[in-house]
Amino acid sequence: MENKKAKQTFDYLEKLFKNPDPELKYSTPFECLVAVILSAQCTDKRVNEVTKVLFKNYNTPNDFAKLKQTELEKMIYSLGFYHNKAKNIIAMSKQIINDYGGKVPNSSKELKKLAGVGEKTANVVASAVFDENVMGVDTHIFRVLNRLGLVNQKTPEKTGEEFSQKYPEHLNHDTHFRLVLFGRYHCTARNPKCEMCELKTFCKYYKEGKK
Ligand code: SF4
Repeated sequence: MENKKAKQTFDYLEKLFKNPDPELKYSTPFECLVAVILSAQCTDKRVNEVTKVLFKNYNTPNDFAKLKQTELEKMIYSLGFYHNKAKNIIAMSKQIINDYGGKVPNSSKELKKLAGVGEKTANVVASAVFDENVMGVDTHIFRVLNRLGLVNQKTPEKTGEEFSQKYPEHLNHDTHFRLVLFGRYHCTARNPKCEMCELKTFCKYYKEGKK
């Protein structure tokens, strides 16, 4: 039954978002890593505006490792949490140079060893640029999967674990991007668009009358 619901869900998401594109813009694994770190507590749109300028002048670990923290802070100030983000980006750039020969490590396990890179960031990058079958569970994916009842968890980390155990065949970056888009534009935190959602026939949240 659970698999039937999962299939129905992912078929529907595929219908809604045929060729999902990540909204965050980047052109190298390193840019992806920096953009995902910058996107914490901030919209992708805002990050794209900042990185469009930033990446023209700085887009390698060497470029960032040479920067003073205060210099980088000024460039990313508008994205919030700029102090920590700048500190982590410079530290992880130095780690990539010293420990990985200047190349972004290509697995979630190694990515998690970098400064400022937690479970979600590591999985998003590993899935988006290295095609690793891991799920970076953000606030949207966490909400959607639990509302639907495909998993039943209290934290994003546990949600990712349960999802990958139950539905390994759906672990890929298209699924990831489709879930994020669905959460961002359909199954929104407030006023989800349930009336037009084909998943309401089995959605736990809808059936419990929370909508
Ligand atoms: S029915 Fe509503 S709560 Fe359930 S998945 Fe659809 S939009 Fe989200």
